[in-house]
Amino acid sequence: MKTSNKKTLSIFSFTSCEGCQFELLGHYDLFSKLLNFYEIESFRLGQENKDEENNIDVSIVEGSPEGEEQIKHLKQIRRNSKIVIAIGSCAHLGGIQSQRNRLPQKLINRKDVISVSDVIKPDYIVPGCPIKQKELVDCLIDVYYERKFLLPDLAICSECKLNGNDCLIKNGKPCLGPITRAGCNSICTNNNEACLGCRGPIEQANFVKMKEVLSLLLSEEEIENWLTIYGDIEKEFKREKI
Ligand code: SF4
Ligand code: SF4
Ligand code: SF4
Repeated sequence: MKTSNKKTLSIFSFTSCEGCQFELLGHYDLFSKLLNFYEIESFRLGQENKDEENNIDVSIVEGSPEGEEQIKHLKQIRRNSKIVIAIGSCAHLGGIQSQRNRLPQKLINRKDVISVSDVIKPDYIVPGCPIKQKELVDCLIDVYYERKFLLPDLAICSECKLNGNDCLIKNGKPCLGPITRAGCNSICTNNNEACLGCRGPIEQANFVKMKEVLSLLLSEEEIENWLTIYGDIEKEFKREKI
């Protein structure tokens, strides 16, 4: 229950490794700053206790909803929350586990893994696998002051260039940096590893060009695999355009 001018905050977790929740706790001084703004009603690492879920100011949702129960629960969270923030690539895109969607149905006999946006409309997304604690704290503080939280709308390539990295694509290796949203300081390409798109697509992502470039390096099937490592990023891109 709210006892001050703080807003109430609840954190829910669906199918995921729960790494994004732990990231929120990462640096305690940053997390404790939040406690000046929010009263945490629920931080249950996925435990069920639906009695408390009414009139929440802000709900954070981690993970991909799976099965009727979780879908119903997610819709209930949306109904009972003024603001919903989906965090991490599991919630944003379906996550690593959505690679299951590309296996033959007869082998897995389970429904496709879906994202939070396949069920409800979140107000904000804080992307990444895992998220960056500061980005989520910034989002929560903007939400507290009723300011619009904006993600960087630059590609990973911009950070990669600023970090002086040798371009993987120029050296004949695939990389999703040109279509992926900046904000991680190009952590993978700084270490000579390809960007695999965990932060999802930028608004101006050019999938046609990206596929054209990748087709010089990969087969059609490999390109499809690359574009679905953390979930179907092209589907998410198209959704953002609707
Ligand atoms: S986005 Fe990554 S770190 Fe976060 S819950 Fe999903 S798998 Fe874990
Ligand atoms: S390595 Fe990847 S992120 Fe870096 S400039 Fe090349 S394509 Fe862009
Ligand atoms: S470089 Fe790409 S895959 Fe690596 S953390 Fe950043 S967005 Fe994710």
